[in-house]
Amino acid sequence: MSQVITVKDVEDLMRSGGDVKSLPGDAIFTPSARDLLREIEGNGAYKNSSRTNGGVAATPKTITSKSSKAELEAFFNSAHAHGLKEQICEMGRRLWQREYVDGNGGNIAIRVGEDVAICTPTLVSKGFMKPADMCLVDFEGNQLAGEKKRTSEILMHLQIMKRQPRAVATVHCHPPYSTGFAVAGIEPPTCMIPEYEVFSSVAIAPYRTPGTPEMGKLVADLVDKHNTILMANHGVVAWSHNNVEDAYFKMEILEAYCRTILVSTQLGVAPKTMSAPQLQDLLKIKQSLGIPDPRHGLKECELCDNAEWRPGVQCGVPTNTNQNGIGASVDSETESAVQRITDLLMEQLAKSKS
Ligand SMILES: [Zn+2]
Repeated sequence: MSQVITVKDVEDLMRSGGDVKSLPGDAIFTPSARDLLREIEGNGAYKNSSRTNGGVAATPKTITSKSSKAELEAFFNSAHAHGLKEQICEMGRRLWQREYVDGNGGNIAIRVGEDVAICTPTLVSKGFMKPADMCLVDFEGNQLAGEKKRTSEILMHLQIMKRQPRAVATVHCHPPYSTGFAVAGIEPPTCMIPEYEVFSSVAIAPYRTPGTPEMGKLVADLVDKHNTILMANHGVVAWSHNNVEDAYFKMEILEAYCRTILVSTQLGVAPKTMSAPQLQDLLKIKQSLGIPDPRHGLKECELCDNAEWRPGVQCGVPTNTNQNGIGASVDSETESAVQRITDLLMEQLAKSKS
């Protein structure tokens, strides 16, 4: 029987420095693995960014940080680069219109070569950028072209791209509901809305001073299995393996989700959650789209992770479903003990008030 190769197999191979040409010719490739192979065929993963970045004009010549000044300038002034710069301006406009950025906050980057990216400038409102404002940087953050100075937060974007070879674009902003969760240090609960389960994979990175390599490292540590990172006491950053609009969509999905969750918790009833089999169905779709998730491959009984989240979202699957029944009686005992103590406290409180 032929070997089945998934997107994860291809990623693992790339990460270990392997050559995709070494993959067996008679293997069966999943659709997302085929997409990824198409992306990396030829010289370098991002040569074909016209496909991954929304069909803008074809790349004139592949560039790297080692390209000559003239080559870099020719690329940066090409119709292809102009198309990408326009896309960044458009995403910036949407971020500003939706109030996901404030002042000069937020930044956007698109990978345009093995170790080069186009990014937004510093000290400019994301709502009113022009293509001429954009910057070209190498993966160490050195500016290679562009008149304005690159954003100070670029290191985080570059560290994501270095660590996650599939990241072709990154978006960072401060959407209020999502940032509220980041300030509270609460990961949004799962099992509530399909859109979020399929397209987002969220984790929280601890707070560090924005723009420092340390901040970038803490975020980059999470991008193997997550595409959207809540930055504690700061905001959100997302990467996409498709294009910059897709990275932006991660923001819309997360922000709408956090807002909806907050509303649902104010309605006076415990929010309902989908069941583990229902979640499993969504995760299958997610995997087929090549979107990472630490829950891929988990059994249904291991899928619910709502218990840690306040206020009171409970997992839809009872905890006593494990095979040998251990934990079931302990859980119900603990629960009734907690209930007794709560009742007692309420009683005393009522007495002391009267
Ligand atoms: Zn920021």
